[in-house]
Amino acid sequence: MSQDPRPWRRLYKTAAWKRLAAAQKAAEPLCRTCLSLGRANDGSLTGSGERQGNPRRRYLVADHIIPHRGDAKLFHDPGNLQTLCPDHHDRDKQIEETRGYSERRGEDGWPIDPRHPANR
Ligand SMILES: [Zn+2]
Repeated sequence: MSQDPRPWRRLYKTAAWKRLAAAQKAAEPLCRTCLSLGRANDGSLTGSGERQGNPRRRYLVADHIIPHRGDAKLFHDPGNLQTLCPDHHDRDKQIEETRGYSERRGEDGWPIDPRHPANR
């Protein structure tokens, strides 16, 4: 048996998180990345704007903008949440895991991840 590399996953099972995620999706019912590309995706489209053919991927994710890595304060900060479709959520996570930092940018266009080379 190997140890869970992400012991904070239990945070996602709490009532506090479920409330927070529901409030985020109610306040922002469309994928933020799709919207920035000019598409209104309420979970019924893929990341490239086609109709989502897989019913198991028709949903939206409440995503942490700055990776929390178990930091309870970042985890529970409503200002650190955005709504994403599964495609954009997976894509961002893959980039982050490969590079070791997130490419996400704030409204000023500057990378928000403290681990991004521009912030070191
Ligand atoms: Zn999207």
